[in-house]
Amino acid sequence: MSKLPISFEFFPPKTEEGKFKLLKVHEQLSSFKPEFFSVTYGAGGSTQERTVETVLELNAKGISTAPHLTCIGATEENLTELLDLYKNNGINRIVALRGDLPSGMGSTSGEFQYASELVTFIKDRYQDSFTLEVAAYPEMHPQADHFDTDIENFVKKAEAGADAAITQYFFNADCYTHFVERVRKAGCNIPVIPGIMPIINYSNLIRFSDACGAEVPRWIRKQLEAYKDDSKSIKAFGAEVVASLCRQLVDAGAPGLHFYTMNQTEAVESILDKAQLI
Ligand code: FAD
Repeated sequence: MSKLPISFEFFPPKTEEGKFKLLKVHEQLSSFKPEFFSVTYGAGGSTQERTVETVLELNAKGISTAPHLTCIGATEENLTELLDLYKNNGINRIVALRGDLPSGMGSTSGEFQYASELVTFIKDRYQDSFTLEVAAYPEMHPQADHFDTDIENFVKKAEAGADAAITQYFFNADCYTHFVERVRKAGCNIPVIPGIMPIINYSNLIRFSDACGAEVPRWIRKQLEAYKDDSKSIKAFGAEVVASLCRQLVDAGAPGLHFYTMNQTEAVESILDKAQLI
């Protein structure tokens, strides 16, 4: 079997203990020889310095590390400063996003409104210095009015120069194949990599999913609810469900998998082990 490209996403740790733990997680996941790691970035200020610090530290260890970069509320000047810093430190990949301003920060009066504008900006200023990944929403972006326009808006990001897309997580392989079919019909051929969320904890999963518009199917919710506090059973069931999803996605032609690791190895390792894909 040829090697399936995979990538792993982290969030920037807040504490010294978190940093230490992430270095261990990074070391363990490096053994899967991922294409890249990525590190999230808080639109509107929170975590931004920690993202830079984490990205530079991990990238120096040898496997390409991509910062997420959001444009909402940003100016050309501060984006240029950050992109120059990344370029000068050997970063060659960016996950280019709009981001969501934290509630209470008001609406978008900044210089950028949409991720496609960020992609255009990076391409104009930096040409091909960075491989650009953008976000995709197989279940539709939660703020979009209509699926058709959301697809059109996704295609604009590819037309602006995005090299590939990573999806929001989902638990139903059909929404992925449907989304890919629609963007192909719209003439867009960039790889669309499914984002894979391990199931580790019931209440966190429901909270995240409500916030980002990802659907947790009833049969999964009901089974997780039935396990109550039995975290061993939740993890075992979650690993089976997500491994099966990964297999279906690869069978359906997914060109790789991107794991939302939550800075933990156990669940991802268990999924990869059960899915037998690499
Ligand atoms: P866009 O592509 O700009 O789309 C946002 C909305 O605007 C959509 O509804 C779209 O249909 C609409 N739209 C786009 N263009 C136009 C247009 N020209 N006219 C009218 N409407 C338009 N958030 C963070 O803050 N930090 C992170 O690190 C982060 N990482 C992420 C990683 C992945 C893989 C994913 C899938 C999401 C991530 N997010 C992150 C969340 C993301 O920032 C939010 O979902 C945000 O609401 C949308 O970002 P986007 O880049 O998809 O925006």
